[in-house]
Amino acid sequence: MGNENPQLHVLFFPLMAHGHMIPMVDMAKLFAARGVKATIVTTPLNAPFISKTIERIKTRGGGGGAKVDIQMIKFPVEKAGLPEGCENFELLPSRGMLSSFLKALAVLQEPFEQLLHDIDYHADCLVADMFYPWATDAAAKFGIPRLVFNGTSFFSPTAVESMMQYEPHKKVLSDSEPFLIPNFPGEIKLTSMQVPSFIREEVETDMTNVLKKAAEAGMRSYGIVVNSFYELEPAYADHYRNVLGKKAWHIGPVSVCNKEAQDKAQRGKQSSVDEHECLKWLNAKKPNSVVYVCFGSLAYFNDSQLMEIAMGLEASGQQFIWVVRKEKNGGGKEEWLPQGFEKRMEGKGLIIRGWAPQVLILDHEAVGGFVTHCGWNSTLEGVTAGVPMITWPVFAEQFFNEKLVTQVLKIGVEVGVERWVDGDDEVGEENIKKEAVEKAMKRIMVGEEAEEMRSRAKALGEMARRAVEEDGSSYSDLNSLIGELKSRCP
Ligand code: UDP
Repeated sequence: MGNENPQLHVLFFPLMAHGHMIPMVDMAKLFAARGVKATIVTTPLNAPFISKTIERIKTRGGGGGAKVDIQMIKFPVEKAGLPEGCENFELLPSRGMLSSFLKALAVLQEPFEQLLHDIDYHADCLVADMFYPWATDAAAKFGIPRLVFNGTSFFSPTAVESMMQYEPHKKVLSDSEPFLIPNFPGEIKLTSMQVPSFIREEVETDMTNVLKKAAEAGMRSYGIVVNSFYELEPAYADHYRNVLGKKAWHIGPVSVCNKEAQDKAQRGKQSSVDEHECLKWLNAKKPNSVVYVCFGSLAYFNDSQLMEIAMGLEASGQQFIWVVRKEKNGGGKEEWLPQGFEKRMEGKGLIIRGWAPQVLILDHEAVGGFVTHCGWNSTLEGVTAGVPMITWPVFAEQFFNEKLVTQVLKIGVEVGVERWVDGDDEVGEENIKKEAVEKAMKRIMVGEEAEEMRSRAKALGEMARRAVEEDGSSYSDLNSLIGELKSRCP
């Protein structure tokens, strides 16, 4: 290393799930733009999701010798008892196979260490997803620091710590009785039904086991990189660092590194809609007149829930782009759409079946609202776009993200989801009715309350972009992280 290879080399190892891969690829690009050599480790079936991005960096070049490479390791489907080709969380045939997927993630340690051993250009640091608790020890074997990426904010891990320690959900009389999160900045209310099962569950599951190991490995790791910006959640960033005593760098919103339309359109999967067509549709609309509706890469809504959404959107009278994770199979009738819906909505509502170029859409000036499942990436992308949101959390830490949006930032309204969705349940067992959708749509788009939310959202969006500009809070934190890593190199 040293004189022969003076450039800092950081390895990025994302979890094979779009909500984790997308931000980590952006992160690799950010490091590369500061002259760091970045290598993303992934598996053969996941590589195509990022290779276009990497190609674009290669052909465009970039300041500071931007260079991002891919290194491949085999995903141990057989050893874990997974079907052939099941290399991404979204490809699991059922949530019942989650344990096998977690097993595969554990088995990855061996090929990953082999890669660290074989790699031509010695790595100086490993940024690995929290779902690889073993990565802290693997990095230590090669004498390099391991940084954790957990794909979320400061707010939710801080809330989780507090919930685990004080167990307020066990001190209420019913599942629906609201309680405050104890020893936590702000008066944040939620109910037991909204608490993730990994906090609620008394018995150990494969998931709680991995999360326990992840927490333990996190304590021993060099620190954590957070896709957030200080001005968004100062009280929680301070609490995380000063009260919980964790070493963290905030470097987001990482999605802002995608400046050109193609960069924005090519995040994650191949878009199901022609990006030019999509932009043409949006270009014909007035500023802040369209609501974008999307529930991320994992949540599945059942037909009757989709039907309620369709009716609610129509009744609201608002224009919309609605992303539905169901491909059209042949010309058959789609049970989730009211009769004649698309004909009636022509020019007013656009349905994207499959994958949408989300950031490209959100950043368009015509978009003035976002119905989101509150995955952290989507939440932050909505904040960055400066749009009020309708929150529709489903699982994971999404109810915490909802509370940040509605109770702290006050830039959104809840659609009224009462219960965290477990395991194989589809969204819609407890239907949100069309009236609730219609009401929430109007609340974020029309009237004084909407205007107030919009002006707060716009201000936050500007702060988000400033944070990643030169001398912004995230820009500076990334600089200090890179400086610290460089100073450790011989
Ligand atoms: N996304 C997208 N198009 C889609 C659905 C999702 O580009 O049709 C992107 C979205 O911009 C975000 C990520 O996929 O960056 C989803 O991550 P999030 O944390 O919001 O939710 P998850 O999919 O993990 O539930």
